[in-house]
Amino acid sequence: MPTVETVTGPIDIEDLGTTLIHEHLVFRDEAVLAEWPHAGTVKESEPPEAVDEEGAFEAALESARAVVERGVKTIAEPTAMFGGRDVEFSRRVAEETGLQVIPCTGIYTYDYLPHYFQFRDEDAMADLFVHDIEEGIQGTQIKAAFLKCAADEPGITPNIEKVHRAIARASVRTGTPIMAHSRPASQTGPQQVDIFEEEDVDLSRVQIAHTGDTDDLDYIERLLDKGVYIGMDRYGLEIFLPIDRRNATVTALLERGYADRMFLSQDFCATLDWYPPEVGRQLMESGAAKDWSMTLVLDQVIPTLREAGMTDEQLQTMMVSNPKRWLTA
Ligand SMILES: [Zn+2]
Repeated sequence: MPTVETVTGPIDIEDLGTTLIHEHLVFRDEAVLAEWPHAGTVKESEPPEAVDEEGAFEAALESARAVVERGVKTIAEPTAMFGGRDVEFSRRVAEETGLQVIPCTGIYTYDYLPHYFQFRDEDAMADLFVHDIEEGIQGTQIKAAFLKCAADEPGITPNIEKVHRAIARASVRTGTPIMAHSRPASQTGPQQVDIFEEEDVDLSRVQIAHTGDTDDLDYIERLLDKGVYIGMDRYGLEIFLPIDRRNATVTALLERGYADRMFLSQDFCATLDWYPPEVGRQLMESGAAKDWSMTLVLDQVIPTLREAGMTDEQLQTMMVSNPKRWLTA
């Protein structure tokens, strides 16, 4: 029986259960955290509040418990380099709540790379990712189960191309699936897929995250024609696309037969260090992140999609079967 790595060890793939494919237990820059541990992060609650280390852990527990209560067994946790990946933190959350947490390896950048990588090539970068997959992350026995990279507004810069090629090579060497953060408004998705294709990645193991930030069905179908999965994974981030347009897009794609290519998730961050609390509050009040939480899909989206015609079988495919197929060859 195939297994998948979690922060509490490998599990039988059949035990994955209902899975949210894109949720962050914490998101903060590790360099800022190391240099100024007092500077804190912001808990994504209403109203948002500044929290210390213990508060960040409590916020992660709160989200984890909320999803477990609603029948979610597993989250894929795509926090990579520059998001403050901390697998011991995730392991403690998993142990306290029973939530299965799947860790990743990779680099979350829109362009910047440390000098360390300037004088090392794609293969040296891939070696680091392969280490996390085969040996363990951050000196632990916890192994990465998927690879993470990103392209955003700056597009495919030389640094971003380098990260994508390194991710692709690590995937080819180990058979590990890829989650690629994309920005539909900059049409990055097809360019990211092109790089993976050039590097001979199995495109059926690639997930183009944040595709749900657009309702341009032509753009989305061009991606789907390549055989990749798409993340309809930012429910609640109204600033990128309002919930009703996200739902209409998912409904249209279900009608066209794409249940086996989509993931529903929120890209929620239990804590985030991007905004001071007063800016976080303004964002909440302006409606930019209305109702954003780790349970929005469960509480609001699934009932609405059902009313629009989604069947139990389609839901099961998106929440249970797709994670299994994406994570195992
Ligand atoms: Zn994310």
